[in-house]
Amino acid sequence: MFLFSTVYEKTRKKYKANCHSDGMGIDLGIKDFAITNREQVFGNIHKTSIIKRTEKRLKRVQRALSRKYEFQKKRGEKPATKKGSNIAKNILQIQKVHQRLARMRDAYRAWVVSVIAKIKPAFITIEKLNVQGMKKNRHLSKSISDQGFYDFKQKLRNACRKMGIELREVAMYYPSSKLCSHCGIKKVKLSLSERVFQCEHCRQSIDRDHNAAINLMQASEYVLLP
Ligand SMILES: [Zn+2]
Repeated sequence: MFLFSTVYEKTRKKYKANCHSDGMGIDLGIKDFAITNREQVFGNIHKTSIIKRTEKRLKRVQRALSRKYEFQKKRGEKPATKKGSNIAKNILQIQKVHQRLARMRDAYRAWVVSVIAKIKPAFITIEKLNVQGMKKNRHLSKSISDQGFYDFKQKLRNACRKMGIELREVAMYYPSSKLCSHCGIKKVKLSLSERVFQCEHCRQSIDRDHNAAINLMQASEYVLLP
């Protein structure tokens, strides 16, 4: 699909083919979908114009439908959802756009997994995500469910099984963002707005998510996912 290259553009030049024997840490997020310790950045597909356009279209057909229902109510008619009615056509339209969005999201996740699996790292470490807890944040709820982390993990698991890659998962409380990936000192305070991790101890300055991905790779406490 053509849109993948636009989400993935930051990655290619940093791609190193000579570290197949090393492990890999993957940090999942909202701003970018996935960041690996090798500075591969898989962007958030929802920031691409094609998804934005499709979501706009969904809103438009949804509005059209609710408008029709309202008019019907005003006229005091019974709801007509039989075949051939405009309302039935509208419902079908909405279903189609929903399907299209779901397919694009799904294909993107599958594609990210295939790119990662092709590198054949010795192991992959991911974080156990507290998706339910994250969803409690009303503002993030939609973007989190759109990302489909659970499905991504499932796909990654299948790919790892097939390729013989060890899949590790670190606990929810592992401070992957707060640790300095260079000297291992833990920061006491790290606000979400700090996009660059700056270590006061060793003076390392590194992208926040990249730092987290390296920490995940270096984690020594984990469970193996079968
Ligand atoms: Zn440091």
